[in-house]
Amino acid sequence: MAASREVQTPSGAAAIPDFDAIIIGAGMSGMYQLHRLRELGMRVRVFEAGTGVGGTWYWNRYPGARFDSESYSYGYSFSKELLEEWNWSEHFAGQPETLRYLNLVADKFDLRRDIQFRSRVIAATWEEDTRSWSVTLQDGSRFRARFLITAIGPLSAPTMPRIEGVDMFQGQSFHTARWPHEPVDFAGKRVAVIGTGATGVQTIQTIAGSVGHLTVFQRTPNWCAPLHNSKIDAETQKKIKSGYPEIFKRCQETFACFIHTPDPRGTFEVSDQEREAFFEKLYAERGFGIWQGNFRDILIDRKANATISDFVARKIRQRVTDPKVAEKLIPKNHGFGTRRLPLETRYYEVYNQDNVELVDIMETPIERITPDGIKTSDGEYEFDIIIYATGFDAITGSFDRIDIRGVDGARLKDKWKSGPQTFLGVLVDGFPNMMMLMGPHTALGNIPRSIEYNVDWVTGLLRYAKDTGLTRVEATPSGVTSWTDHVKALGVGLLSNEVNSWMTGINSNVEGKQTRIVARYSGSAPAYRARCDEVTAKGYDELALA
Ligand SMILES: Cc1cc2nc3c(=O)[nH]c(=O)nc-3n(C[C@H](O)[C@H](O)[C@H](O)COP(=O)(O)OP(=O)(O)OC[C@H]3O[C@@H](n4cnc5c(N)ncnc54)[C@H](O)[C@@H]3O)c2cc1C
Repeated sequence: MAASREVQTPSGAAAIPDFDAIIIGAGMSGMYQLHRLRELGMRVRVFEAGTGVGGTWYWNRYPGARFDSESYSYGYSFSKELLEEWNWSEHFAGQPETLRYLNLVADKFDLRRDIQFRSRVIAATWEEDTRSWSVTLQDGSRFRARFLITAIGPLSAPTMPRIEGVDMFQGQSFHTARWPHEPVDFAGKRVAVIGTGATGVQTIQTIAGSVGHLTVFQRTPNWCAPLHNSKIDAETQKKIKSGYPEIFKRCQETFACFIHTPDPRGTFEVSDQEREAFFEKLYAERGFGIWQGNFRDILIDRKANATISDFVARKIRQRVTDPKVAEKLIPKNHGFGTRRLPLETRYYEVYNQDNVELVDIMETPIERITPDGIKTSDGEYEFDIIIYATGFDAITGSFDRIDIRGVDGARLKDKWKSGPQTFLGVLVDGFPNMMMLMGPHTALGNIPRSIEYNVDWVTGLLRYAKDTGLTRVEATPSGVTSWTDHVKALGVGLLSNEVNSWMTGINSNVEGKQTRIVARYSGSAPAYRARCDEVTAKGYDELALA
C-alpha cells in the first residue's frame, strides 16, 4: 500500500495515517481514479466495503445479471493494451465475465496494493485547520487526506422493502445486490421474486426454467424490450478490436454515450407505415436502440410517446398467451422509456409457463412476510426462497449512508434535504476538497464513458492544485446555485421527470424519499463535457481556490 505519513492529532495523542487523497469505493470509478492519481505521484488509499474490486459487478451476482450497454462500449478505453488483451465473449456480457475483466484491470495496473477491502467508511469530516478530511471506518479506525474522492456508486445502496416480518422468514432470502458468492440451488424450489425492475426481469427470466414454482410479486410493471444478446464470433471480434477508436468516438458524440443516438426525425414526420416499420426494426435490434435511438421526440412528446407505448403493448399481448396476464404486464401509469428500460430475453414468455404465477400487489398488497412465505390481502403463499429485487436508494443513497460534514460541521445530508446541490456534479460549496464521481447532477448514460471523463477532469483539477500549491479547492455558492438551476431547467419537459422512479429520487422503501427531486443531469453528455472543459480552460476561476 502507498506509504502514509503519521500525523499527530491536535491533542498530540494518537497518530492518524495521512494521505494525499482518499477514494471511497473500488468500482470502475474508484479503480480508474486510483490509477490516474498515481500518475500525479500522489499517495492514495482506497477504502472499499466489499472484499474485492468491481463495485456493481462485485455485488450483483444474482442469476442473469448482465450489461445492457454493449460490452465493447462499456469497458475502459484508456489503455490500448487492455483493449487489445481483453476479448468480450458476448455482445452483452454477464456479471461473472465483467467481474473477471475488472479483476484483470486491477492486476494489470497493480491496483490492489492501495485498496483496503472490508473497509466501510461511515463518516468524513472536514478539518479546516489542517485543510484535510478525517475519514472514519466502521471499525473505528481513522485516516486523514487532503482530498476526498467519493466513488460510491449511483446504484450501490440496496433497499429492502418496508414490509413487516422480513426477518421472520425461515427459508433462504436474498437481496439481488447482496447475492451470495456460492451458487444457489433452485431445483424444485418454490421461489418468490419481489420486484420487476431491470434486476427483477433478469432474475425472473433466468431462474424460471430451473425452479419448481415461481411467483412474481409485481407492483409496477415496466416497459421492457428485447436484448437480442449473442456470442461474439471471431470475425466480429476482429472488427471490434480494429474499430475501438470509432466505437469510443461515437460514444463521445451521442447524447448519452451509448452507441445509439436519437433518430433526427420526429415521430409524426413519417407515415404510419414507416413508423411501424421503424419500430419493428428497433424491436428486432440489439440493445438500447429502441430507447436511445428512437425518434427524437419520443421521450418528450406525449403523443409521440403513446405511439411507441402502443407498439410495445401490442408486442406484449402477442407474446403472453393469457390476455389477463398480458394486461397486468403492460404499464398503465407511465409511457415507454420514461423509466429505466429493462432489456429482456424471453421475459414475457416466462408467464406462459405452468409453473409461473404473477401476483399484482397493487390489487392484492403484501401484508407481511411470514415464517413460511408471503401473506397478501388475498391469501398466504409458501416459499423455500424469497428474492428481493427491490433495487437501490439511487444516486444520493450511498451519500446518505455516510455522515459527511463540511465547513463548520454542516451535514451534506441536510444541505441536500430538498435535492442535491452541486457544481458540475463534482463539487459542493461548504465541502472543500471533496470531489464526487458519478454523484448527482453529472452525466450518466453509458456510465463508464462518463466515469472516464469525470475522473480525467478531477485528475486535471488535482494536477492544477499540485502544480500551483493549492491546498483548498471549493465550489462557490453562486456556482452551485447556477449549476443546480441549470440541471433543474434541463429536466423540464422530459416525460421521465413526470414519473415516479429512482431517476426522480422516489423510493417508497426509504423514509424521506417520497418527493420528486432532480438528481440526474438530463442534458447531453457532449454539452456536459463542454461546460466542464470551459471551467478548466478558464483556469478554474469559477472555483474558490486557496
Ligand atoms: C445490475 C446492474 C447492471 C448495470 N448495467 C449497466 C450497464 O449495462 N451500463 C451502464 O452504463 N451502467 C450499468 N449499471 C450501472 C453501474 O453501476 C455503473 O455502470 C458502474 O459500474 C458504476 O461504477 P462506480 O464505480 O461509479 O460505482 P459502483 O460500481 O457502484 O461502485 C461503488 C463502490 O463503492 C463502494 N462503497 C459505497 N459506499 C461505501 C462506503 N461508505 N465505504 C466503502 N465503500 C463504499 C461499494 O461497495 C462499491 O464497491 C448497472 C448497475 C447495476 C446495479
